[in-house]
Amino acid sequence: MTPDMMDLDQLVVTPDEADGFIEDLPDEVVHVYQQYGGRKVYRITVGMPGQPHILFTRPHAHEPAGTAACFEWIRRLLDGNDDWSSQVQESFRLSFVPDANPSGSQLAPVKFWDGTRYENETFFLWMFGESGDEPGERFPRLDTWDTRDVTFPALLGIAYEQLDEHTYVEPNRDHRSTFFRAYFDLHAQEPVDVWLDMHQTEYVGSERNTHINLPTNQDQLVKGLRDHHAGLGEAIHDRWRREGANPHDAPKDPYTSNPVQRDFLNAVWHTITPNTLHLVTEVQNNNTRTPVEKQVGLQMAAMDETLQYVREHSASLTDALAESRGSRGKHD
Ligand SMILES: [Zn+2]
Repeated sequence: MTPDMMDLDQLVVTPDEADGFIEDLPDEVVHVYQQYGGRKVYRITVGMPGQPHILFTRPHAHEPAGTAACFEWIRRLLDGNDDWSSQVQESFRLSFVPDANPSGSQLAPVKFWDGTRYENETFFLWMFGESGDEPGERFPRLDTWDTRDVTFPALLGIAYEQLDEHTYVEPNRDHRSTFFRAYFDLHAQEPVDVWLDMHQTEYVGSERNTHINLPTNQDQLVKGLRDHHAGLGEAIHDRWRREGANPHDAPKDPYTSNPVQRDFLNAVWHTITPNTLHLVTEVQNNNTRTPVEKQVGLQMAAMDETLQYVREHSASLTDALAESRGSRGKHD
């Protein structure tokens, strides 16, 4: 996979662009979820059933690089009659949820956040909202909120998914979101072995521009699976260095010094991480140090590295997942 072939004008990002792109795909590879408010969330599955199953997603509406990266991969896999695409399709089962919250994405004022138009302080208001009570202040970041319990935000945070007339959720923090529904449905049909969840962050006050977040409940996982979290995370960091990025020295254990956030994320993710190796990519957003083609290229490189790692470590990864999935029943 060579991201430098990318044509920026062709990248599929907005919900309208996604709808148009999906029209040209064979029906049998697309599963559709309807969001409250009418937008469609697409889950696309290609490749060989029974082969290692890898899921790629983008949950946050203010982090568009993962969407562009997913659609670039799908385009190349389905267009190409080349060796690369046939090899990938024969060796893997691949699922994509390129945009888990298009009703949020459609509110974004830009296609990409390239750091030239919005200061981070303004960008933060677009993410999780501006207080309806105090102009210029941030609306709080909440896993879920009800319009009847708050003053409605002066600016609605685009990261939130609206579930019904009153309820909003952060997609990767509430199992009622379309993001989680898509995973749980898919995993019940065809167990997901590896899940690369593509995020972006700003790296305010840091010279870094990429890193991998490990699950917050690493300490609860079997050793084999912990080793593969670290192994794949390191492999992606190495790949990013080769691509000219500046990742953190090692994959991060997020929220080790924040037990409240950590316990909260564990409660949401503990039913998932023993069954599916889940890693989060973070690629710099809204900064000219990491231009748009780099944002997308680094997500695509992480996707490619994931395939290479799974191919090289297939036997021991299969064993670790089998042990972890088998041990769950005994302890819970
Ligand atoms: Zn995110």
